[in-house]
Amino acid sequence: MIDPNEILADARALQPDVVELRRRIHAEPELGLELPATREKVLTALEGLPLEVSLHTRSSGVVAVLDGARPGPTLLLRGDMDALPMPEDTDLPFRSKRDGAMHACGHDAHTAMLAGAARLLADRRAELSGRVVFMFQPGEEGFAGARVMLDEGLPAFDAAFALHITPLLPSGSIGTRSGPLLASADFFDATVHGRGGHASMPHDCQDPIPVACEIVQALQTFVTREIPATDPVVLTVSRIAAGTTTNVIPESAHLAGTLRSLSERSREKAHEGLHRLVDGIARAHGMTADLDLQTGYPVTENDAGFESFARGVASGLLGERGVHTFPAPVMGAEDFSFVLHQKPGAMFFLGVRPPGVERPAPCHSNRMMLDEEGLAYGTALHATIAERYLAGEAG
Ligand SMILES: [Zn+2]
Ligand SMILES: [Zn+2]
Repeated sequence: MIDPNEILADARALQPDVVELRRRIHAEPELGLELPATREKVLTALEGLPLEVSLHTRSSGVVAVLDGARPGPTLLLRGDMDALPMPEDTDLPFRSKRDGAMHACGHDAHTAMLAGAARLLADRRAELSGRVVFMFQPGEEGFAGARVMLDEGLPAFDAAFALHITPLLPSGSIGTRSGPLLASADFFDATVHGRGGHASMPHDCQDPIPVACEIVQALQTFVTREIPATDPVVLTVSRIAAGTTTNVIPESAHLAGTLRSLSERSREKAHEGLHRLVDGIARAHGMTADLDLQTGYPVTENDAGFESFARGVASGLLGERGVHTFPAPVMGAEDFSFVLHQKPGAMFFLGVRPPGVERPAPCHSNRMMLDEEGLAYGTALHATIAERYLAGEAG
């Protein structure tokens, strides 16, 4: 068994490489499913390791397989590689060189830690019984890159683990919970079709604007009256648009928004309610409405057994005080959920709060910065969880 102090020391020895890779990816952020420059950097980092590397063709996904000296179970470790379409507003020496793109969600760090863990585990190959699949994934930010990679095909695995950095926790700590960790995220667009005309003569028209307002109100009533308080959803109408001027009733009114839920049951119920209310309220006023409901990422659900195993490994590495239990799920979403729908596993948040910073800029802020010292713990955590899982400690 790997001594946690030994692996942490090894991860620290590897820090210059991990930090350098992270900074190079940070300086050249790429968006979506095609990340050729990032993929190249990952392949360079894995060069010379005893891995079987395959390149996906439907995306820039990279799969690297490490086979231990003896047969055993397979753990998948995932790191996402894509950036966000937003300008960077930091004065870091390695800040984004690409206009309108920034690694504001820390995926640069996820990729670098995973490459570091591949190196740590490859060095210990002789002691491993089983297989580790390293999944370098593009397109997490809205492109369902995990789904795309699963559809193209991944080697069989028995369980999966991923880390996501957070500047809200200090370096050397993690945060997680058993059960739902992150919400599902769906998106909708609705159009109320009326009949336009002169604003002074609404009786000769069908005004879609008050109907759209009624739909917004009814959706909020629906959430509080029909969705159980113990299994909540968030239903936000984040955009409403209609009309052009003061004396014209428009032909149509548009609504758009997002639905977040923590269970498939509430999610389905909210889908049904959205259809019923949008359609029913328009019809009650003699109009029609279309609803375009796009299902996004499912709930990210940590398996109780795997979460408790991985938490135990983390407390061995970080101490009891380094392990935080989130009292509630986070309402954001993650496409690692698609992986966890295939096999049990868990995702942990890894603290990277810059020292001395009281109110750190969170993920998706254009001022987001992370404490690179925290990455050594992530590299070590990936490697230790894999080694212990392969040793059969997850039960
Ligand atoms: Zn993000
Ligand atoms: Zn992210």
